[in-house]
Amino acid sequence: MATYGIPVIVLKEGTTRSYGREALRNNIIAARALAEILKTSLGPRGLDKMLVDSFGDITVTNDGATIVKEMEVQHPAAKLLVETAKAVDAEVGDGTTSAVVLAGELLSKAENLLDQNIHPTIIIEGYKKAMNKALKILDEIAIKLGIGDIETEEGMEKTKKELYKIAYSALASKYLATPDILDKLIDIAIRAALKVAEKRPDGTYLVRLDNVKIEKKKGASLAETQLVDGIVLDKEVVHPGMPKRVENAKIALIDAPLEIEKPDITAKINITSPEQIKMFLDEETKMLKDMVEKIASIGASVVICQKGIDDVAQHFLAKKGILAVRRVKRSDMEKLERATGGRIITSIRDLSEKDLGYAKLVEERRVGNDKMVFIEGCKNPKAVTILIRGASDMLVDDAERSFNDALHALRNVLKEPKVVPGGGAAEVELALKLRKYAESIGGKEQLAVKAFADALEEIVTVLAQTAGLDPLNALMELRKLHDEGKINAGIDVINGKILDDMTKINVIDPVLVKKQVIKAATEAAAAILKVDDVIAAAPTKKEEKKGKRGEEEEKGKFEFD
Ligand code: ADP
Ligand code: MG
Repeated sequence: MATYGIPVIVLKEGTTRSYGREALRNNIIAARALAEILKTSLGPRGLDKMLVDSFGDITVTNDGATIVKEMEVQHPAAKLLVETAKAVDAEVGDGTTSAVVLAGELLSKAENLLDQNIHPTIIIEGYKKAMNKALKILDEIAIKLGIGDIETEEGMEKTKKELYKIAYSALASKYLATPDILDKLIDIAIRAALKVAEKRPDGTYLVRLDNVKIEKKKGASLAETQLVDGIVLDKEVVHPGMPKRVENAKIALIDAPLEIEKPDITAKINITSPEQIKMFLDEETKMLKDMVEKIASIGASVVICQKGIDDVAQHFLAKKGILAVRRVKRSDMEKLERATGGRIITSIRDLSEKDLGYAKLVEERRVGNDKMVFIEGCKNPKAVTILIRGASDMLVDDAERSFNDALHALRNVLKEPKVVPGGGAAEVELALKLRKYAESIGGKEQLAVKAFADALEEIVTVLAQTAGLDPLNALMELRKLHDEGKINAGIDVINGKILDDMTKINVIDPVLVKKQVIKAATEAAAAILKVDDVIAAAPTKKEEKKGKRGEEEEKGKFEFD
C-alpha cells in the first residue's frame, strides 16, 4: 500500500492539543485563577488592583469591569470569563466582579463533582436547573420599590426618595467623597436619570443612558459638578468676531468641511500672471462665501461642524453674526441631532430649513481655564450633560466611573423596580431555598444543584473576609438567621457586623443585576464545562519572531510609524 509508513497529518505543525479531562482541568484552572484575582476586589472593602498596560499607563481600581478590561488575559477559558464580565457590564453596568467570582466557584465545585465521576453534561443540566430556580426565587424575595408616576409632583417626590437609596448603594461603596458632596452627586445622577426617563405602558421607565452625556473638565472641586439641561461641547467658538451667545438658536449640523478641499491627487496649475493668482484666490473666496450665504439664507444662527472651518469662512460667518464651532466629535453630533431635532447633513448644497435644530440658548462659557459651548433648552428635553469638575484627572475619572455606576443602577430599577437585600443576604437565601429544591430532584443532578448553592455562598464568604469576620462563623450565623425566616440578614461589610436586615442600611442590589450575574456566571461555567478538546494553532510567525527578538522588532515598528 502506498500510504504505509506515511503519517497522516491533520493538524498543522506546532499545533498543541489537549483533550478530555486534561483539557477540562486546564480550562477550569485558568478560569479559577482569574476569579481568584477578582475575589479580593469584591464589595465595598474590596482591595484595589494596580494594572500597568503595555504603554506603562497605570490604572488603580477595584471595579471588576475596569480590571478585566485592562488585564491582558491569555488563556482562552479565562478570556471567556472576561467576555462574560464585559457582557454583564454592558447589559446592567454592575455585578462584573460577582459574575466572575461566581463562575469561578461554579467551576471549582464542578471539579469536585468531576472527581466523583459525574459527567459534565449532568453538571451542566443541574446548574441550569438551579439557575432557573434561583431566578424564580429572586422574584419571590424581591422587594418592590415605590416608584411613582414622575409626571405628578407627589409621585416624583416619592420616586426620588426611593432612587436615593439605590444611587447611595451604588456610590457609597466605591466613592470616598464627603457626605455632602456625595449627596450632591447622587442628586445630580437622579435628576439626570429622571430627566431622560420615558414612561412605558406598564408604569416602568425606559432610561436611555446615551442621552446623558458626561463631560469632564479638570479644575475647581467636585462640589462644582453640575447638571446641564442640554449638551455641553468641549470646544470654543472658532472666531473672536462671532457672537458668544445666541438665543432661540437655529442650529445647522454639518458633516462637511467649510473649506476648499485639496484635491486628492497632486494637481499642477500653471499661473502666468498676477491677475491669474488673484482670480484664483477670488474664486476660492467666492466659493466659501457662497457656502456661508447658503447657510445664512436658510436662517441658521449657529453652525456646529464636524470638520474644519477655513479662516475665510470663519470671517464670513462672523460677519453674518453666526456662532460656529468646528471639529466636533461624531458621537456629539449624533447627540445634538437627537437633542435639537436637527439633521446632520453632509453637503452644504442640500442644507434646508427643515434640517435645522433648535435650542433656546447656545452660549460659550468659561469653565476653568477653558471655554466650553453650552447648548441649552433643546427641542427634545431628554438630553442632559453632567459636567464633572475635580482637582485632578484621577478624581474626575473616578467620578465619571461612579456616575456611570449610579446611572446604571438607577436605570436598572426604573426598568424593573425591584431590589434584593445585599451584603450576601440574597445569596444565603437562595442557597437555602436551592438546597430544599435539590431534595425534590432525583439522581446526580441533585448534587449539581447543591454545588450551585455552595458556590453562591462563596460570595458570602468572600464578603465576610473583606469585612474582617471569620467567614465560616459568619456563614453559619447567616444560615441560622435565614432559617428563622430573616430573609434580609446579611453582612454589613463596612462595620464588620452581621445584620438582621440589610435594607435598613440601604445595602440593596437591583434584582436585574442579581439575575444577570447568576445567568452570566452559569452560562460561562457551562460553556467551559462543555469543552473537552483544546486545539491551539502555533503562534503566527510574526509573533514568534517578536517573542525572540522583541526589542529589535519594536524598534523597527516605531521607525515605520
Ligand atoms: P460587582 O462588580 O459585582 O458589582 P462590587 O464590588 O460592587 O462588585 O460588590 C458588590 C457586592 O457587594 C454585592 O453583593 C453587594 O450586595 C455588596 N455590598 C455593597 N455594599 C455593601 C455594604 N455596605 N455592605 C455589605 N455588602 C455590600
Ligand atoms: Mg458593583
